[in-house]
Amino acid sequence: MGLSGLDIYKLLPKTNCRECGFVTCLAFAMQLAKRQVSSEKCPYLSDEAKRTLESASRPPIKLITIGEGDGKLEIGNETVMFRHEEKFHHPCGLGFIIEDNLGDKEISETIKKINALNFERVGCMLRPDLIAIRQNGNTDRFVQAVKAVREQTSMNLMLMSKDFKAQQEALKLVSSARPLVYCLDKDNYQEFSSLISEFKVPVVVCAQDLSGLSEITQNLINQGIEDIVLDTGKKATTEKIWEMTQIRRLSLFRSQRSLGFPSLVIVENRADPFQETLTAITYIAKYAGIVLISGNETWEALALLTLRQNIYTDPQKPLCVEPKIYPVGNVNNNSPVLITTNFSLTYYTVLGEVEASKVPSYIVASDTEGMSVLTAWAAEKFTAETIAATLDKCNIKDSVSHRRLIIPGYVAVLSGELEERSGWQIIVGPKEASGIPSFLKNL
Ligand code: SF4
Repeated sequence: MGLSGLDIYKLLPKTNCRECGFVTCLAFAMQLAKRQVSSEKCPYLSDEAKRTLESASRPPIKLITIGEGDGKLEIGNETVMFRHEEKFHHPCGLGFIIEDNLGDKEISETIKKINALNFERVGCMLRPDLIAIRQNGNTDRFVQAVKAVREQTSMNLMLMSKDFKAQQEALKLVSSARPLVYCLDKDNYQEFSSLISEFKVPVVVCAQDLSGLSEITQNLINQGIEDIVLDTGKKATTEKIWEMTQIRRLSLFRSQRSLGFPSLVIVENRADPFQETLTAITYIAKYAGIVLISGNETWEALALLTLRQNIYTDPQKPLCVEPKIYPVGNVNNNSPVLITTNFSLTYYTVLGEVEASKVPSYIVASDTEGMSVLTAWAAEKFTAETIAATLDKCNIKDSVSHRRLIIPGYVAVLSGELEERSGWQIIVGPKEASGIPSFLKNL
């Protein structure tokens, strides 16, 4: 809620009648500000107070849904400027542009390539979110291309055309998939608003400056169209970043409803795909809801999706794996046993190297609350005592006939005490995970 307890108190009757269940109106206001209670508990609120409270309780940046079902893309609903203040809630969508003037075969090959862009990283599946079909030719060709894309992918769609007829025909085909329509501007929004209302799909509004954007969105809001994504057009990266920062500031701190929507950025630099990727990275960091690129190489997608995963991970909750024994390969009772922490990045790095060694092994992930090896050791979450307790708890002794434990080289200092506490022979492994394959092969 955008209002403080005192702001809300000013809207209440101040009679302290207690009918809401609170001793005073002020106590009720404080709980309302924390969203611990509903405003409906006070039967004496004026209509104006109800309207003010309802409007203040809306999220400052509207949640916009593109697509349907499990793969739908949700963007917006962000509440902070900086990730460390809380977290970013809805990861920026990543999409690719397909031109409708490509041949049918070329379109199919491009879709096939995009469909294959799935990656597993630290236990999470990373994949792009949408395909934008851009009109270059006539209405029929655009509709054919939209149909072809729809038939060959389950990815969310974006329809890029300023041709009313082309959008109308395409929407007749794919509106059930809730595509994003691109775009409404000052010249066409009045004509297109009827189409958007009819098909009930989200829409991108484009203007070169914030006041122009605000004017169009306010008009659309007045017509009941509120599933809006903002685009400030093509311009220098610094200017674009400044505008997107202003949009977020004005939404969060000034409650400017007409700019309270996620933003979209199109990055196209076919001549220099590295620069295109770097520019897209900048926008993912600040503050794009969707980034569209023209390239679709695996390395581009992986770089952007990895960055997105890092930015949109809750900084207060590290990614963890379940603390337990993980057999890698065709293990037997003589297989080596390695211990590490349950921080996802650490675990999956160790896992990758153990797999690369081709030496079947057990990895024991110790519960360090998602901390990496040295951090956990410094925080006393990865000590001789906790490691010995982990070995007991997971019963690794039932899986192997030996009693030799490989510990990370960075915590070699634990060896003596750990041998005493656990009764296992401690073998100090390499400091860096990259040393694991040769270490295991020469064990
Ligand atoms: S019911 Fe309304 S007027 Fe009565 S104490 Fe609660 S907030 Fe105040």
